[in-house]
Amino acid sequence: MTAPRREVLELLAQQGQPVKAYELLELLRRRRASAAPPTVYRALDFLLRHGFIHRLDSINAFVACHHPQRAHQVPFLICERCQQAEEVCDDGRVARLIEAEAQRRGFAPRAQTLEVHGLCARCRNAA
Ligand SMILES: [Zn+2]
Ligand SMILES: [Zn+2]
Repeated sequence: MTAPRREVLELLAQQGQPVKAYELLELLRRRRASAAPPTVYRALDFLLRHGFIHRLDSINAFVACHHPQRAHQVPFLICERCQQAEEVCDDGRVARLIEAEAQRRGFAPRAQTLEVHGLCARCRNAA
């Protein structure tokens, strides 16, 4: 893995919550002033393809994956107050259910996104 890719992954893991591409660029520039948008986009692309991170389409942000050793599609629970995004590690149960339903209808899935918005337990208790 090249240095910028590793650094982008480190930054994402440190944030511990979803980060947008331009925020990553700002963080990366504190380490390497020369970092340009293509550096970040290429790094994100690589990390996505290799399963190190997830892209959350509904909020246009990225999170580090907690178990990148296995390829997986997981539902995410996204808190609208504290912005935490929790991976629902379900051993692919939901993904398989959707695939089976798609197959039954003769539909060829290309991508699957499951993002549930709401309030996390901590924010609910604080309210
Ligand atoms: Zn993951
Ligand atoms: Zn919350």
